[in-house]
Amino acid sequence: MDLIHHRPPEARGGGPAVTDPVFLSPPDVGELEESYLLRAFRAGRFDPEGPELGAFEREVAARVGVGHALGLSSGTAALHLALLTVGAGPGSVVVVPTLTFAATANAVTYTGAEPVFVDCDAATGNLDVDLLSDLLGRLAEAGRRVAAVLSVDINGRCADYDRLLPLCASTGVPVVEDAAQALGSTYRGRHAGTLGRVGIYSFSHNKVMTTSAGGMLVSDDAALVARARHLATQAREPVPHYEHRDVGYNYRLSTLLAALGRAQLSRLDAMIARRRALRDRYAQLFAAVPGTRILGAGDQGSNCWLTSVVVEPERAGWQAGQLAEHLVTRGVESRPMWKPMHRQPVYADQPAALTGVADRLFASSLSLPSGSALTGDQVDRVLTTISEFLQEHR
Ligand SMILES: *Cc1c(COP(=O)(O)O)cnc(C)c1O
Repeated sequence: MDLIHHRPPEARGGGPAVTDPVFLSPPDVGELEESYLLRAFRAGRFDPEGPELGAFEREVAARVGVGHALGLSSGTAALHLALLTVGAGPGSVVVVPTLTFAATANAVTYTGAEPVFVDCDAATGNLDVDLLSDLLGRLAEAGRRVAAVLSVDINGRCADYDRLLPLCASTGVPVVEDAAQALGSTYRGRHAGTLGRVGIYSFSHNKVMTTSAGGMLVSDDAALVARARHLATQAREPVPHYEHRDVGYNYRLSTLLAALGRAQLSRLDAMIARRRALRDRYAQLFAAVPGTRILGAGDQGSNCWLTSVVVEPERAGWQAGQLAEHLVTRGVESRPMWKPMHRQPVYADQPAALTGVADRLFASSLSLPSGSALTGDQVDRVLTTISEFLQEHR
């Protein structure tokens, strides 16, 4: 289950009942989205060849500057197909950062490949490239076929592609970019999702923009995207009768939801600007608080999907979990970062190259309300509530 969902936080400790709960990353939708959806519904085309899905794909491709885009039913489906198209399968391994949402590792498992976990960089939470270099060397020595390095742009901040891409190129391993959280982020002028051979986005309900459920695969490689498109439509051969040479999937995005996506895409810049403004306010608030920092702070290219504060309890004199408890009494939702994959019962036996950084981030981080739909009053309430806590714990 996703760690970020929008169950109302319950007031505890006998305080006043909370009438206006603040969620971590609620969908930012309104009349524009409603009108686009209604227009698509009334047009009466419900099949993937309807005009909305193709238009949405072209608009996303143009927005991120990539040759081809394929709208899919989820980010997870997009990851699954991306991995298949680079040759992940039984007998191969895929390197995955341990600090991620389970979907990243699960998609590897669907292909029959084996996930091998790698720890992350303390400043950003993204894959540790030095450790990866070491790990790729050891996997090569052991004669393992590495089908891909699956890089995740955590909280919307791009990984260290200046070092990651040459490393992977020199070892002949394709990079698949899980940019589920990073639509609209840039890295040295290039868009998140387009930095590896193939990338994916998620439009799930809590992401920077949403189609309620949905995802997209993007690549400059026309043949790769054509192959993914074929697999996404039950691998039906282009002949009049039903002919199938491969096992395919039913993974296309609903064309009605594509219409919702088009409305959201037209507002993406404004939504990112709001998330960034919120991050700036958190950064200002915590700047003077010893033992705290904003994960990945100072990256101008990030879409600021989630803002996570990292707390060193020895220096701060309090723990991230205590702040979470205080927030919940005021109806404010917060979450620790993802529990690392190597700590998950389902993946505990997988090989992993670890430094302890992901474990420490999991124990010491808290993601704060970051959504672009938060009202000014809600933002003020969150900041006041944090300030109260900080006063009490000086
Ligand atoms: C959200 C997310 C996914 C999965 O996307 P869905 O659209 O929910 O299937 C994959 N990877 C990461 C890092 C995510 O945050």
